[in-house]
Amino acid sequence: MNYEKLITKHVQKLVPYQSARRIGGHGHNFLNANESPKSEGYFLNSTSLNRYPDCQPEELIERFADYAGVHKTQVIATRGSDEAIGLLVRTFCEQEKEGILIAPPTYGMYSVAAETNNVLIAEAERNDDFTLTAQQLIDGVNNAAFPVKVVFIDSPANPLGICFPKDELVKLLKALPETLIVLDEAYIEFAPKEEDLTYLVNEYENLVITRTLSKAFALAGIRCGFAIANENIIKAMLKVIDPYPVCDPVAQIAIQALTDHGVKMTLERAQKCNERRAKLEEALKTLSFVKKIFASFGNFLLVEFTDGPAVFNAMAQKGVILRSFETKKGLKNCVRITIGSDAELEELMRYLSALEI
Ligand code: PMP
Repeated sequence: MNYEKLITKHVQKLVPYQSARRIGGHGHNFLNANESPKSEGYFLNSTSLNRYPDCQPEELIERFADYAGVHKTQVIATRGSDEAIGLLVRTFCEQEKEGILIAPPTYGMYSVAAETNNVLIAEAERNDDFTLTAQQLIDGVNNAAFPVKVVFIDSPANPLGICFPKDELVKLLKALPETLIVLDEAYIEFAPKEEDLTYLVNEYENLVITRTLSKAFALAGIRCGFAIANENIIKAMLKVIDPYPVCDPVAQIAIQALTDHGVKMTLERAQKCNERRAKLEEALKTLSFVKKIFASFGNFLLVEFTDGPAVFNAMAQKGVILRSFETKKGLKNCVRITIGSDAELEELMRYLSALEI
């Protein structure tokens, strides 16, 4: 059997998303996937595991809607925000004819979701300092060789760390009323409160916010994310989603994480993470081979070294696994460091300080 011929043409060409897990690496100190350094404890009730779960467990949706400050009809729960990204592409873009707009360097799943679903990708230019304006995105949409249905913006951006300004977002939403503008707020709990633009879904029908429990909530392992948008967009996505996207144990844990106590713990965790980020930034500044530390609102720092691959490889040899952005647009010699625990970051700094480059 010719397996290659059996596979659809666009999947034959596909390079899957290179997640930190997929890339792998042998080590003991994993600072490569923007995970929280510590897992929390939860209770599990196993009395109804014989039953299929609700497609959208009501208590989960209500708790998250409360937390995000929106109505429950404006929320869909997904397997991580990655599934929400894929659903948006599948629900709104016609295969081979329409597509998405991204502004590289940006989170890699937007283009992988487009390629997997055989829809087209256009790119917008950023400024030299990597900031992004509404006009650059509007130009990207207007210059694309196909109709752009969905624009993806990460805010805080991964790996850049910057937030997309509110006035630029409003300008974009007004200029492109027939295009979905997706603001990916995966890291929003690490940013100042005013950077969270979720409330704008009440004013703009073309705005979609994606969120996740993987980062500040320290629950990457349960795969629970959300999209927030006006009710009609959510209804369309609910047509496309698989029948049981939220497993029963996932819902149980997420509901506990979204209690008042759980949210309080999360915000404290994010605050402590930001303090460690500031401390790491100060320590990195003392190293002669650090060229630039990007300002960051996420649980990570993007660092330009004089020789990024040398730093990445030297740390990997010591078992400290970082994430290299060497091949990404404008990010030669850049390495992303997840804000781990104090002990993990101290170990990193010990090895970096001893490095001779
Ligand atoms: N958006 C951004 C910007 C990310 O960096 C990530 C994960 N690295 C995600 C979305 C996806 O997160 P999850 O699927 O775990 O919710």
